[in-house]
Amino acid sequence: MPVNSRNILKKITDANLVGRGGASYPVAQKWAAVKSALATRKIAYIVVNGAEGEPGVKKDGYLIKNFPQEVINGVYLAEEFLNPAKVHKIYFFLNREYFRAYGPGLKKVLTLPKYKKLGEKMEFIVKPEILTYISGEESALLNLIEGRKVEPRLKPPYPTEHGLHGHPTLINNTETFYNVSLVARGKFKNERWYTINGSVKHRGVYSLPADLSIAEVLHRTNNYPSYSFFVQVGGEAAGEVLNSKQLDQPVSGAGSIMVYDERSTKKDRLFKYWLNFYHEQSCGNCTACREGTYRLFELFNHPEPDHKLFNELLDNLADSSFCALGSDAPKPFKSYLKNILKK
Ligand code: SF4
Repeated sequence: MPVNSRNILKKITDANLVGRGGASYPVAQKWAAVKSALATRKIAYIVVNGAEGEPGVKKDGYLIKNFPQEVINGVYLAEEFLNPAKVHKIYFFLNREYFRAYGPGLKKVLTLPKYKKLGEKMEFIVKPEILTYISGEESALLNLIEGRKVEPRLKPPYPTEHGLHGHPTLINNTETFYNVSLVARGKFKNERWYTINGSVKHRGVYSLPADLSIAEVLHRTNNYPSYSFFVQVGGEAAGEVLNSKQLDQPVSGAGSIMVYDERSTKKDRLFKYWLNFYHEQSCGNCTACREGTYRLFELFNHPEPDHKLFNELLDNLADSSFCALGSDAPKPFKSYLKNILKK
């Protein structure tokens, strides 16, 4: 059966497709919510999120470099599904490096007759270098496009109903659009893209079944270390740290695995890296994160750090932060202390 705007939703539902930006939200549910909001509204927007701000995650760049047509085709299918007459504009968000290197490839695809009209509506938004990681959070990204202060919005309302300029907005990650295209062509095999970094021989981006355990991903890519090691999964900032006996679970978040050689990785260096990241990337909107990340950084650099206070500040960040950057910040520290230091 040829794919059309009616049956694409069923195909996505049947494929159990989930978003690949990190949150794994069901794609069909999001698409249906935008479509339903659009029933009583005049216009909608589509946003492709491809800036990939989480350190260690490289799969979106890999996809737009190697499969630009598949990504664009996913966006085309989204526009067809929502109704091209009502989709006012499409924004493609990229960081500067990706835009420079892969923008030409994407633009070339948009000159193909099938995508020409889509191309006329598409605008590339290049992430300004001074902006922090949080600009990739979906509601902060909407603020960026609208020219407002780049910070997350209070939800609800959700972008599906009240997104760009108050209109229904479909925001999906690059890999999600890529997968939609595969689903439409009957080629989707429930795989996902893994980025493997660190002390391994074959760093890179790999497509493998989505339900593999961390250990299986390392084995299948010939990256399972022969020395004592630990990993950080789902991103090199917010990802959870696990020891080598905890690898029988699937890879979470945006699909990255960072492998650390236990013999040469120093706790203080690692903590400093994470603290620098959070301290620099906090957008400053809420007190818990703005002050908390600063105080943690300061405390850690004190000649006699107060470990009890350090832990309390981490708990406060988890409980009181406005968005995931702050509430997830304690994860690497706490999991390292529990799974590596006390194992
Ligand atoms: S948690 Fe941090 S990044 Fe998120 S809104 Fe608050 S200050 Fe900004």
